[in-house]
Amino acid sequence: MTLPESTTHSTIVALATPPGKGGVAVVRVSGDKVTDIAEQILGKSISPRHAHYLPFFDTNKQQLDQGVAIYFKEPHSFTGEDVIEFQGHGGPVVMDLLIESILACGARMARPGEFSERAFLNDKLDLAQAEAIADLIDSGSQQAARSALRSLSGEFSNCVHQLVAKVIELRMYVEAAIDFPDEEIDFLADDKVANQLSQIIEDLNQLLFKAQQGSLLREGMKIVIAGKPNAGKSSLLNALSGKESAIVTEIAGTTRDVLSEQINIDGLPLHIFDTAGLREAGDVVEQIGIERATQEIRTADRVLLVVDASEDQVFFDIAEQITQFIPADIQLPPITIIRNKCDLTGDEPSSVQVGEQFCITLSAKQQLGITELRQHLKQIVGYQSGESGIFMARRRHLDALERASEHLQTGYSQLIQSAAGEILAEELKLTQNCLNEITGEFSADDLLGKIFSSFCIGK
Ligand code: GDP
Repeated sequence: MTLPESTTHSTIVALATPPGKGGVAVVRVSGDKVTDIAEQILGKSISPRHAHYLPFFDTNKQQLDQGVAIYFKEPHSFTGEDVIEFQGHGGPVVMDLLIESILACGARMARPGEFSERAFLNDKLDLAQAEAIADLIDSGSQQAARSALRSLSGEFSNCVHQLVAKVIELRMYVEAAIDFPDEEIDFLADDKVANQLSQIIEDLNQLLFKAQQGSLLREGMKIVIAGKPNAGKSSLLNALSGKESAIVTEIAGTTRDVLSEQINIDGLPLHIFDTAGLREAGDVVEQIGIERATQEIRTADRVLLVVDASEDQVFFDIAEQITQFIPADIQLPPITIIRNKCDLTGDEPSSVQVGEQFCITLSAKQQLGITELRQHLKQIVGYQSGESGIFMARRRHLDALERASEHLQTGYSQLIQSAAGEILAEELKLTQNCLNEITGEFSADDLLGKIFSSFCIGK
């Protein structure tokens, strides 16, 4: 891969800690000018891998701070280049002065994600590991952090490498069979190829499952609470979030805008939106609220359609309540019917499934049946909390695994139906490319740019 000289050879600097005031802040520098910069800022050269407590100077030899400097000599550093970290007092002005002095010594400001990008380009990390750094920092739950760490330590990449190795082995075997068609044994008719291929398909599916779980931990689910005014939508948001986020009143039409809360159920993040009651709007503000509600419904992963069980006896055709207010051409997301206010009807809380349709009976106000609802939300996306070995995965990884799986399936049917060795070999090659995209061994430069630019500066 060829990269512009400015990307590979310049020395970069950035604040590695969050901006603002703190006890300590860290400025990180990477590149071939690091030793010169160290001498200028510290007034002397320092030995690698030791913490040196020293004054920091600007280019006019004026002291600007006093702190710890650690030098990591290439290739034994995060980026694989010479790196120095200055740990100074965490004030924005002090840090700005330090960075300005480092810039004056010939460094330039790092772009977002540039340290990780260099680590990737210098083979210190593969792409999935580099992405896991960002995911570890952004993780919203303990489960998400643990799975990001698993990806960062290379567990996900190792599984991908093992699969790639199996694909290559099979591909070599199949290609040999094509190249030597006169051999007495017909390699392709042999069960061995079909068996190996089904084993690879099974391994890939297991990896895909773990990646899907990891992706759920990262992305979560968008849940929209909808229904007629006074059905108990705001009460349900409050019951799920455990907070009084939404105003609950007996006056219909109280929620006029969309309120949202982020909660997590055993690590599964849920972005919950409470919307204005669906009815003929009383005034223009309510009308806008209803339009916004329909917008949210469009993009939801799931709608919780709340009905007042003490008034509405209809069970499964209640979805019509929504369709009355949503243009017919919009495809509705899957709906779970919530029969609220079971304390008034005397029904026990329950969770029932009829075909594809789910109906949960609960009382938002009395907090009855909320555990069943939480369980249901985990179940509909197949989330298994406590599942060990989940990797943090992104949509990009799932796409690559899904495409790899399709190629393997096509190869398998071609083998079974017509012993088409050439097609199988080609499909195996495409599978290998898809898998290599995950670790970055087969990636377009613009993809790399896109991935690293979404990181924050200093990473
Ligand atoms: P929304 O307009 O759909 O958001 O409904 P609210 O959450 O504001 O609730 C409307 C009214 O129904 C309020 O007086 C709530 O106290 C009441 N309510 C909500 N859930 C329940 C419930 O489970 N049982 C009972 N008895 N009342 C409820």
